[in-house]
Parts: sequence; structure tokens; C-alpha cells
Amino acid sequence: MDLATLSFLHKTFQEVQRKQDWRAALDTLFVSLRGSFVFDNAAIYLEDSQTKASEVVYARAVGRGKAAEADSMWGEGIANEVLSKGKMILKEPRKGLSYANRLTEAHLLGFPLYVGGNMNGALVFIRFGGPQYTELHIQIASLQAFWATALIERKELQDARTELDSVQRQMRLQDDFVSTISHELRTPLGFIKGYSTSLLRQDTTWDDSTQREFLNIIDEEADRLARLIENMLESARLQSQTLQFKFSPVRIDALARDVAMRIHTHHPEMKVNFDVETLPSIRGDGMRIAQVFENLFSNALKYAPASEINIGMRLMSDKIRVTFADNGEGIPEDYLPFLFERFYRVPGERTVTGTGLGLYICKQIVMAHHGNIWVESVLDKGTTFIIELPVDPTL
Ligand code: ADP
Repeated sequence: MDLATLSFLHKTFQEVQRKQDWRAALDTLFVSLRGSFVFDNAAIYLEDSQTKASEVVYARAVGRGKAAEADSMWGEGIANEVLSKGKMILKEPRKGLSYANRLTEAHLLGFPLYVGGNMNGALVFIRFGGPQYTELHIQIASLQAFWATALIERKELQDARTELDSVQRQMRLQDDFVSTISHELRTPLGFIKGYSTSLLRQDTTWDDSTQREFLNIIDEEADRLARLIENMLESARLQSQTLQFKFSPVRIDALARDVAMRIHTHHPEMKVNFDVETLPSIRGDGMRIAQVFENLFSNALKYAPASEINIGMRLMSDKIRVTFADNGEGIPEDYLPFLFERFYRVPGERTVTGTGLGLYICKQIVMAHHGNIWVESVLDKGTTFIIELPVDPTL
């Protein structure tokens, strides 16, 4: 091997290595070596570990037939052949073909891929026209197959690491949840027990207004317990996808106003501004969507207590966008990606009670409506939850 080839390979290797995304890395690999090995399309097929069916995981068109980028049907036959024989396969077109026939009869070159040491994939190249592949071409293509294998392994490792991180986080959250939930259950129970014991004491008589006050506290705390248990059950049902939704036409602006009014009776200090344009109905489960608003109001009251709440609703072609904004303390950026996870609470949030289920439930409900929910927050400026729900054109 001469120095020029070696430094070329070295440079290519560096460029490929620097690409974070495995597809971008493969693109770089194929494009860089295309000067030495010409092809029109390349595709990678991997066997599904369970079904054993091979699926295309990467397809790239660089030359003629660019439109075929997404359509990798051309390679399926040879990929399956490579996988069943477990060796390289080269198919050259008959010599002296007309131009029209060249497009149907092409040069096909396929290599087995040993991802993780087992033969479970194939890299195939197609070229329409041109001279036959030489031994050098085949060697270069084979080198690309090794390289592609390394990139796929890197990707699988990254995926596994991401999944592991998420599982570990989930386990930590679950641990925290047990202590949170026992605290959450104990607090209202403590109140109920304390005030009912006081009322039952035979050595003391309480005047009417004190009795009412105690009973009110018992009543509110029992409601809180019921809500908490309901939230836990709901989140378990959402998790196992057994929660039933009843869809019918709903006006979400009216729903949000109803919820605001209901909450206002308990929290007369809460100030809510609506900025809503005329909106069509959507197909949804009114009770569940109301629950989303209840959770957002309850969070605004808990985490942005002195703040006004601004609710906006706009029609955006085929969806309604709801913005639910407070101007409270906001949430540090680092925590935002996890907010909708089950049991997640912002670290240090120990003074305000909660279970970390509210936003998870909101997200699951919105997703069951084929919508989307996300959060934007700026420290000391406030937090905005944005919900998009699709409009049903038949309504
Ligand atoms: P919980 O309120 O039970 O902790 P949620 O899932 O409703 O659980 O919320 C998750 C976390 O998001 C909360 O612990 C809180 O730190 C943060 N959060 C939610 N809403 C707001 C808000 N409006 N302003 C600031 N932080 C919020």
C-alpha cells in the first residue's frame, strides 16, 4: 500500500469517526470512497432478532436513480441471498446491453455483515451501467462492509446505553416514589386521624364553628387522599394502556373555562386570563382533557402561587394550540426533558407536595388524542405548557 492511499484512508476514517450520527457517518464513508468504488445506491439490511425477517435500516442513492433512495426493494433479493449463503455475492449484467436494459439489469454486489459477531445483515450496492467490478473495487467495497458493521455496532451500543440510562432513571424515580408516596398518604391521613380524634374526645366540647372547621379539614383531606389514589390508579392504567377513553365532540375552550371556574371557588385568589379565538370542536374525551387542565392549574397554584395564569388558544390549520402560562419561578433547563416522565419531580422540590404523576398523566392523555404536549420555561420569568390537539375535519 502506498503512502497516499494510506493517508487518504486515514483522513476518511477520521471524518467518519467524528460523525455523531451513524447514518451521517455511513454517508461520509460511502461518499468519500466513491471516487475509488463507484455505485449508484447502497442499502443495509439487518435481520430482526425475533422474526428473522430482514429489514432495510439504511438506504442511500448517490448516482443515477436518486429517486430510488427510499425504495430499496432492488436490494432485497440479493440481501436475502447473501444472508442465506453467508458469503459475498456479485451479479454482473450480461455484456452489450442496451441502455434501457441496463436499468433493469445492473451490477449488484452484496456482503454479509457480522454485527456483534453473528451474521445478521447485508450491505448491498447497485450500479446501473459502467464496466465490470474489478478485484480492487470488490476489496474497497468489502472494507466498507467492515466499516459499516463497526458503525452499526456503535449505534447499537449507543441505543443500549440510552435505554439503560432511562431504565436506571426510572428505577431511581420508583425508589423516590415509594418515599414520596408514603409521605403523601401519611399527611392527609394524619390530618383526618388528628381532627376526628379531637372531635371524638369526650373530655372536650367543641363549639359549632370549630366542629365545622374540623369537619371541613377532614373533608378536604379525604378529597386529597381520593385524588392521590385516583392519580396512582390512573397512572398505572395509562402505563398498562388499559385506561378507557370515551371520544365525542368537545369544545376545549369551554372545558378550560369550566375547570377554571371550579378551581376558582376553592382558590378565589387565582387570576386567570383567557385569550381564545373562535375554535372548532375536537374529538376527545372531555373528562380526560378537563383532567389535563386540572393538573396544569394545580401545578400553577403549587409552583407559581402568586402568579396570574394566561391561557391562549389558537387554531393552526389542522390543530388547536393551547398555551398555559404562568410567570412563576420557572424550571431550570436541565430538568425540562424529564418533566413528563412518570414519578419525576424536579430535584429539591420537597417543600411542595406532589407525586410526579400529574404531568405524566397529562402527556398520556394528550397522546391518546394524537396530540402533543411540551414545556418551555425561563428562570424567574415563568413556565408555559403548550398542548396541540388535532382538529377533526368531519366535525
Ligand atoms: P408533582 O406536581 O406531583 O410533583 P407533576 O408531574 O405534576 O408532579 O410535575 C412534575 C414537576 O414539574 C414538579 O415536581 C415541579 O417541579 C415541576 N412543575 C410542574 N409545573 C410547574 C410550574 N407551573 N412551574 C414550575 N414547576 C413546575
